Amino acid sequence: MEKRYDFRKVEKEMQDFWRENSVYRFDPGSENEIYSIDTPPPTVSGSLHIGHIFSYTQAEMIARYRRMQGYNVFYPFGFDDNGLPTERLVEKEEGVKAKDLPRSEFIRMCMKTCEKYEKEFKELWESLGFSVDWSLRYETINPMARRISQRSFIRLLKDGKAYMKESPVLWCPECQTSIAQAELETADKETTFSYIKFKSGDEILPVATTRPELLYGCVCLFINPKDDRYSKYIGRKAVVPLYDYEVPILADEKAYMDKGTGIVMCCTFGDSTDAGWYETHKLPYRKVILPDGTIDGNVPFIGGLNVIEARHRITGLLSEKGLIIKSESITHTVAVHERCGKDIEIIPSRQWYIDILSRREKFLEAADSIKWYPKHMKNRYIAWVENLKWDWCISRQRCFGVPFPLWYCKKCGNVMVADEEMLPVNPMETGPGKPCQCGSNEFEPETSVFDTWATSSVTPQINARWGEEGDLSGRLLPMNMRTQAHEIIRTWAFYTIVKSLYHTGRIPWKDIMVCGFVLAKR
Ligand SMILES: [Zn+2]
Ligand SMILES: [Zn+2]
Repeated sequence: MEKRYDFRKVEKEMQDFWRENSVYRFDPGSENEIYSIDTPPPTVSGSLHIGHIFSYTQAEMIARYRRMQGYNVFYPFGFDDNGLPTERLVEKEEGVKAKDLPRSEFIRMCMKTCEKYEKEFKELWESLGFSVDWSLRYETINPMARRISQRSFIRLLKDGKAYMKESPVLWCPECQTSIAQAELETADKETTFSYIKFKSGDEILPVATTRPELLYGCVCLFINPKDDRYSKYIGRKAVVPLYDYEVPILADEKAYMDKGTGIVMCCTFGDSTDAGWYETHKLPYRKVILPDGTIDGNVPFIGGLNVIEARHRITGLLSEKGLIIKSESITHTVAVHERCGKDIEIIPSRQWYIDILSRREKFLEAADSIKWYPKHMKNRYIAWVENLKWDWCISRQRCFGVPFPLWYCKKCGNVMVADEEMLPVNPMETGPGKPCQCGSNEFEPETSVFDTWATSSVTPQINARWGEEGDLSGRLLPMNMRTQAHEIIRTWAFYTIVKSLYHTGRIPWKDIMVCGFVLAKR
C-alpha cells in the first residue's frame, strides 16, 4: 500500500474495475431469485443536494444486503426528465419563456439541459459508489418510456378509464397549464374578508367573500336548508351588487352556516366547491378570469386587469357605493401550484382525465396488501385517497413531455387513436395513417402533453419493458421494493398503484420504503 492514500486514484481504479467486470449487473439468465428495486428517477430540476444522497443510501444498503444474500438484484436507475420541472429549470437558466419560443426550439433546449444534468448526476452517483446497474438506465423522455407511457394511455382509453371532458379544471396562470389536485400546495396568505350587500326585494343579504373581483361571475347564492336565519330566501332571487343582475337563491348543505355569514356566493370559479356546484346544480358559466390570469375584457370596471388589481378596484367601487358592510383582515389558506408557488385558478377547458374517483375503494384496499416502512406513512396515502375531489387530469398545455397519441377529425370531431405499432408517436409530426370513419383525411393533432406523473407512474412497467421486446413483466412484477420520499406519496406512490391495478390487476410492489427530508438549520 502506498504511504499516502490517494482516494482520487483508488476510487477511479475501483470504479473502472466495477464497470469492466459488470459487478452490479442484473443477470436475466440467472436461476437465483430476483430482488427488484423501483428506484426513484430524480427530476431534472437543477438541485442536487444532500437529501438525494441521504435517501438513495437507504436503498443502497438494502440492495447490497440482498446481493450478499444471493439474490439476483435488479437495481436500475432512471431520470424523470420530461415535464414541468425541466421546463422551469430551462426557463430560469436561459431566461426564456416556453410560450415565447417555437416549440421545437424550446424542446431542443430542454434536451440539452437534461443531458448536461444527467451526465453530472451519473458521475456523482458513480463516484459515491452506488451499486446501480447502469445498463438498466432509462429516461422518461426516451423512446421506450414514451412508447410504454402512450401504450398505457391507449389501453386505459380502450378500457374506459381515460376520458376527455370539457369542464372546470385546476389551472396555473403562471405556467399556463392545467394541473392535478396532487400538484397543489397550500399557503397561508393575508387577505381581506369583505361583507358585501346583496339584495332580495328590499331586504339586504350579507355575503362574505375573499374574492370580490369574481362578483361578475356570480351565478347564484347558496343557503344551507337547515339555516333558520336565511332558509326562507331559498327559491327567491337576489340582485348582484354593482352589476345589477338577478341570480337564484338555491339550497345546498355545503353552504356552511358557520362560515362567513352563512350565505355563500357561487362564482365561476372561486374554488373547487364552486366547480362542484357548477356541475351538480347545472349552473351557467360566466367568464371572468382568462388562462393568463387577467380579467376578461368584457367584464365591466376590471377588464384587462390582473386579479389583485381587480380586487382592489372592485372593493373600492363597492365601498364608494356603500355596498360593503364591513371588512376584516384574515390569514387564510389558499391553493398554490407546487412548481411555482403562484395562486391557482379554476378555468373551464377541454382536458383528458383518468378515472380515479369511481375506484377509490380499490386503491384503499391496495394499501393493505403493501408493506409500508415506516408503517405510519400508509396513513398519508389513506388520507389522500379518501380526500380526492377530482379525477386525475393528465393533459398539460406544455411542450417537453410525452405527447398524446391522438388526432381529432376536422370534419366530424371523432377522436383518432394511434395504433400501438406506431408508438412512440408525435401527432404534431405524423398523421394517424388511416382515414376517419366519416371518410375524411384531415386531422387536428392533440398538442397537449402528458402530466409527467402519467409516465413516472409506470416505472415498474418501464423497468420490466412492458409490452416490449424482452418483456420481463412475468418475472419482475410486482417488484419487491419501491423507495421514495414522503412528499410524493400522493403523486408517485398513488399514481403507480393506480396504473398497476388498472394494467395488471395487481399491486406494483410488495414493500414501500419511505424516507424523510434532510432539513437545514434555520
Ligand atoms: Zn405554476
Ligand atoms: Zn371524421
